Amino acid sequence: VRDKRSPTPRSESVSRSMSGNRRRDTKPELLLRKALWQEKIRGYRLQARGIPGRPDIYFPKSRVAVFVHGCFWHRCPSCNLGLPRHNMNFWKEKFDRNVARDQKKQALLETEGWQVVTCWECELKRDVSDCVNKIRRSLSASARHKD
Ligand SMILES: [Zn+2]
Repeated sequence: VRDKRSPTPRSESVSRSMSGNRRRDTKPELLLRKALWQEKIRGYRLQARGIPGRPDIYFPKSRVAVFVHGCFWHRCPSCNLGLPRHNMNFWKEKFDRNVARDQKKQALLETEGWQVVTCWECELKRDVSDCVNKIRRSLSASARHKD
């Protein structure tokens, strides 16, 4: 709960970036976890300490890492959201860095033998089973490798 005395940021994303904190247990992430549970997909962990890129959800046994990306913050290619009108250059640079960081994380994980699944916020809201199926495919691909 926000302190009522502090100024209200223009949007939640701005607020998050200003504080420099990464939100945990975001709504899209909870939506996905609930769906995984309902689909009886087990074995995932949440707080990825010591795993490159610190994915939001990961399956240690299958080495599948899942990122749940907010469309605004991580620049979803299908939403293609515009830049905030104020301080446009500042935001552009910031977003470019975010995208570059996401790509670097993915590359790092892949060199260490992880499969990376990215679930976008809009995708989860539209149909969470699309993302569940992507995860399921990666899990079964990993199972095939081991056999
Ligand atoms: Zn999107």
